[in-house]
Amino acid sequence: MNRSETLFQQAQHVIPGGVNSPVRAFRAVGGTPLFFERAEGAYLFDADQRRYIDYVQSWGPMILGHAHPEVLDAVIERARSGLSFGAPTGLETDLAERVCALVPGMDMVRFVNSGTEATMSAIRLARGFTGRDKIVKFEGCYHGHSDSLLVKAGSGALTMGVPSSPGVPAALADHTLTLTYNDPDNVRKVFAELGDQIACIIVEPVAGNMNCVPPLPGFLQCLREVCDQSGALLIMDEVMTGFRVGLTGAQGHYGVTGDLITLGKVIGGGMPVGAFGGRRDVMEKIAPLGPVYQAGTLSGNPVAMAAGLKNLELISKPDFYAPLLARTTRLVEGLQREAKAANIAFTTNHVGTMFGFFFTEAEQVTNFGQVMACDNERFNRFYHGMLAEGIYLAPASYEAGFMSAAHTDADIDATLQAAAKVFRTL
Ligand code: PMP
Repeated sequence: MNRSETLFQQAQHVIPGGVNSPVRAFRAVGGTPLFFERAEGAYLFDADQRRYIDYVQSWGPMILGHAHPEVLDAVIERARSGLSFGAPTGLETDLAERVCALVPGMDMVRFVNSGTEATMSAIRLARGFTGRDKIVKFEGCYHGHSDSLLVKAGSGALTMGVPSSPGVPAALADHTLTLTYNDPDNVRKVFAELGDQIACIIVEPVAGNMNCVPPLPGFLQCLREVCDQSGALLIMDEVMTGFRVGLTGAQGHYGVTGDLITLGKVIGGGMPVGAFGGRRDVMEKIAPLGPVYQAGTLSGNPVAMAAGLKNLELISKPDFYAPLLARTTRLVEGLQREAKAANIAFTTNHVGTMFGFFFTEAEQVTNFGQVMACDNERFNRFYHGMLAEGIYLAPASYEAGFMSAAHTDADIDATLQAAAKVFRTL
């Protein structure tokens, strides 16, 4: 038995499924999840000291690569002055100013501890601001695990076969309208009927929790339009896409701005940080200025803020993104080429430094139905083949992959060589 197997067995006695977040358990792909000991740059090292080229990046935050020395220094230095005060620090304002300067539509921002908290709070605020109960989301999009949002959700909820989780009261789920991603006609129809009852639309501007599905031209614009007409708020959930698709996120990339924006992942560089913010008149409805309640013992934690600040400083450097974009393109084009050479039906999507790949006959994947029609059994075999070659991909087919600044051309070459070998075994 290797070390990961031993650790997994021990974990299962005291942690449900042996993991603290379901997809980590490898239920979808089968086998034993790897337990990791350390990470550096583009690499993860498991408990048996094997090295992997990592395309999961802690599910998105590690855009600078793991254990970046400057981020570590900032965290360690800050930690020496105390881990948490439960009272304000100037660091929070520094990070808030930077976030407001970078993110389109962000007049004010509040920090929380996770993406789930960010979206949950944004939804409450949208309901409080509009005085309406219904919300609109899209099938296959994941916005964290708060009750209103665990309806036809993506990511682990989809992988585990519980997109609409037991435990969510029907009375609450009834207020969540789930529409089809990339189908503007459907959106217009629902708003024509129910627009005056809808508090908000929440959307992943690039869907990254049903694999990687970019918005079709006009889709995000349509959401903006129906919100403007009906008085509903548009919540751009940029927890994954923020600072990932590019420095100004998917909003900057597509030129559509939300009334509220949620952030997570990259903003904390691996520390637990989330944020929600947007229009000043809406954000002023949050306690203590307004009546919509939201709070957090560890929110704005100084060590997490220090990590976030250093992360944003480094990714704001001129030309930070260009090489990452080039490498992402090289990776997905290479994968496509190797699949074709092995005669495997395969296609890819990518936006910025996010990417996805699909075992399908379809030339392009643009919606949830196409994602669900992909060959999962083939994905699983590809997954384990790549793992054996030292390539760590997300252990489920409904997740996006990520490129970091630490990945080199040699890493991409090694990945493509591994893929060429594995494709031929499928
Ligand atoms: N929104 C989106 C778009 C996400 O991708 C995620 C996490 N993958 C969340 C919200 C929830 O974030 P967290 O896991 O930090 O609670």
